[in-house]
Amino acid sequence: MMRMNRALCVRAGLGIAAACLLACGRPPVPRNLVLITLDTVRYDHLGISGYGGYGRDTTPTLQRLASRSIVFDNAFAQQTNTNPSHASIFTGLYPHVHGNQGNAALLAPDRVTLAQILRRQGFRTAGFVSGVTMEDRFSGLGRGFEVYEDKLGRKVRISGRIAARKAIAWLRGLRPAERYFLFLHLYDAHGPYVAPRHYHELFASADPGPELPRIPHYQQLLHDNQPLTHQSDYVDRYDAMIRYEDDILWRLLPEINLEDTIVVVLADHGETLTERYHALDHGAQLYDEQIHIPLVLSLPHARPRRIAPFVETVDLLPTLLELLGVPTPPGVRPQGRSFAPLLDGGRQELHTFVFATARTEPSWFADRGYELDDKRPLKSVRSRRFKLIVYPGVARDYLELYDLAADRGETRDVSARYPKVRDSLREVLERWYARRLAPGEGATLSAEAREKLQALGYVGN
Ligand SMILES: [Zn+2]
Repeated sequence: MMRMNRALCVRAGLGIAAACLLACGRPPVPRNLVLITLDTVRYDHLGISGYGGYGRDTTPTLQRLASRSIVFDNAFAQQTNTNPSHASIFTGLYPHVHGNQGNAALLAPDRVTLAQILRRQGFRTAGFVSGVTMEDRFSGLGRGFEVYEDKLGRKVRISGRIAARKAIAWLRGLRPAERYFLFLHLYDAHGPYVAPRHYHELFASADPGPELPRIPHYQQLLHDNQPLTHQSDYVDRYDAMIRYEDDILWRLLPEINLEDTIVVVLADHGETLTERYHALDHGAQLYDEQIHIPLVLSLPHARPRRIAPFVETVDLLPTLLELLGVPTPPGVRPQGRSFAPLLDGGRQELHTFVFATARTEPSWFADRGYELDDKRPLKSVRSRRFKLIVYPGVARDYLELYDLAADRGETRDVSARYPKVRDSLREVLERWYARRLAPGEGATLSAEAREKLQALGYVGN
């Protein structure tokens, strides 16, 4: 009965929120969804994490949105490259299951995306992206979007301002009765952190010295054992680019009715700045600065709160479908779990562990004596206290265990000190990795599931 009332509320549309509240005893289902990804933005460089003292306000607009939203303090990405991470967000599947394990990977035809599901439900759908790895021809991630603006010409990236301008024009062209799903991907904080001068100067020291050189080989620094100079200056620029994206949000958010639209802002992965040997980089490591991401959910009529339990990006698809009142299509089996039960504080934990994978760069860990097999990914499992990272070796795997309670920076391997923890986490990790399929799904889609999906138009013949 309650479900029927909620469905009626959805169909009835705007302007009767109060009536629905009275009739249903609960607020109407939100009509629309806006999903914004901030590429390469780590959790601990935003106002929501407490960053921003000493005049370094990277996210004033996101802060205002967060003050009326649900903020997740322990959200984790499944992969540290753009394409695979977005594929997990869009499918609710881990990378070794959806299959996009690197940036040049096309999503398999039988992987159903959030945009496809919502479009089938009558949503208008549009995606606007700013980086080459999100182009549909390289990723397959445009699937389900009526409009997917990914034409970068000869460029590998465009300013998020351009993408947002197009998104705003699309929003203004919608008819009021239409439900919509808008996806916006901002790439400005991705290296090499080049922006208009006044942004570069925003957080620079009063006496920056000689002109700061462009990063010579972003994501390849130190490969030739060159020391990284100007370290803090590059971090200043990274922060400036986050502010640049925040200013884009300042232009976009007034175009959205937050009373009937879910707005999700998150990152696809973070960034190692200067804390590692391989500085200014992401994609081949699984330390927290790369997998711990910001996640802000503005949900109409929901009480603002902070959520401490673990959530993963694979949880987004089932969560958003539930919040939008859209049933999961038959045959679609996301591996993530809806975190809707966390939103009113009604549940303590959703996951005991979070998992991630990354591509393997054999040369990177040679200094540790590791001989790595680049055919297999790095894998990690993280509990509240410990994180285990498994590096795939040619002859044997290499394990690193970090005690996050004593060593948040993940600098001291404590495998030898806690062998039981190491072994049990290894077992958890391998069991998770072997479970390539969503619960209840066959080795490939069963004939029945495939038929159902074909009938619904999700899968081609
Ligand atoms: Zn990315």
